[in-house]
Amino acid sequence: MYDVAIIGAGINGCSVAHELAQAGKRVAVFDMNSIAGGGSGAAGAFISPKFSKGGELKELLHEAFVYSMAFYEQHFPQLLKKAPLLHVAQDEDDSKILQEYKKNSSLTLLNPSSEILDNITTNAQEMESVSINAGIVNAEAMCKALCKSAAFIQEKVESLIYDEGSWNINEEYRAKEVVLATGAYESLMKEPYMQLRGIWGHRIDVKTTTQNSHSIHQFVSISPSSNGVLAIGATHNVHYHPQTAKEPYDVNAGREELLEKASRTINLENIEVVKDYMGLRSGSFDYMPLVGPLVMSSETLQNKAINFHTKKPDYEAYTYYPNLTMINGNGGYGFVLAPYLAKMLKEYILSDMKISQKVLPARFFARWAKKTH
Ligand SMILES: Cc1cc2nc3c(=O)[nH]c(=O)nc-3n(C[C@H](O)[C@H](O)[C@H](O)COP(=O)(O)OP(=O)(O)OC[C@H]3O[C@@H](n4cnc5c(N)ncnc54)[C@H](O)[C@@H]3O)c2cc1C
Repeated sequence: MYDVAIIGAGINGCSVAHELAQAGKRVAVFDMNSIAGGGSGAAGAFISPKFSKGGELKELLHEAFVYSMAFYEQHFPQLLKKAPLLHVAQDEDDSKILQEYKKNSSLTLLNPSSEILDNITTNAQEMESVSINAGIVNAEAMCKALCKSAAFIQEKVESLIYDEGSWNINEEYRAKEVVLATGAYESLMKEPYMQLRGIWGHRIDVKTTTQNSHSIHQFVSISPSSNGVLAIGATHNVHYHPQTAKEPYDVNAGREELLEKASRTINLENIEVVKDYMGLRSGSFDYMPLVGPLVMSSETLQNKAINFHTKKPDYEAYTYYPNLTMINGNGGYGFVLAPYLAKMLKEYILSDMKISQKVLPARFFARWAKKTH
């Protein structure tokens, strides 16, 4: 019997495994692929805040950015590369947002070095930009390191049944608690209110004679070079879903698109693509992540005492799956959010600490029930 079974060995599942194993729990992590075999393995894994005017997502990502940089530096310094980040506006609207961001940011703003200004294109030099101290983690190695104290079981979880006070997994394993960290892949608990969008992304490692010391974000994300290799990646522009697409993903077209977009920002000499990484990242429909217990919709709807048409839904009156939580929907910020959200989830599981309503999955049930019942 495990104390906790985590389904999904991406950055979310592995971060939760780390938190719970550190707290002395017996943890098993299941994945149908390898550790970081999903979206996490494809990530450039830049640790950066959100450069926007304001709003709850920006605030959450700012807190998570500060927390995660300190977390990685304290626990896994060898897997964190600290590097200045230059974020360049894509257009005039974006420039205005960056000007606003710079006025209000509590982060130390850097002056871009002459070396970076020499490397970037004239167009990029003319755009508004912001530069801060940030970092990049080694995606796969980080997931593996976080999972080290848990048992890893390479198996697809097909059946999850709660009986006699614990979860029966694939009719073979038992755990007192289950955490679903399945990313953009098919959901294990089919609930009508729970919808996540999977967005396909592609990252390439590129050999180049150009030396680059910065992370640069504009139309794509470009990493600093190390031993003559840098990474270029993007998730927002390649609309492909492996579970619904009729044709296989066109790797060459993806490479060309990434290189063309990178060339609008940086002048790279003597390039050769040496490796491709691809995967799905999952985002929620309001862009905020999903952390916490899962509402059982049919049981909750049967409760006649609940008013589903109120502006202030009472989440505590809902019926939840017993000893089951989820962590998902991190969008393009999985490596920024996961350590922060995993701590939040651990405190909920072990100490019943409240989770902010802004990230509770119950918000989607409340919206769905209001619309449909
Ligand atoms: C190209 C690209 C670049 C990105 N760049 C960045 C970046 O620079 N910075 C950043 O912070 N984020 C970045 N992201 C986003 C980040 O990768 C995601 O937010 C993050 O990986 C989500 O992690 P996850 O653990 O939720 O999902 P995943 O990593 O997808 O993990 C889910 C896992 O669950 C497993 N699974 C699902 N169902 C089952 C089942 N039934 N049984 C067993 N296993 C199951 C899957 O095999 C998978 O391994 C990028 C993403 C991509 C694709």
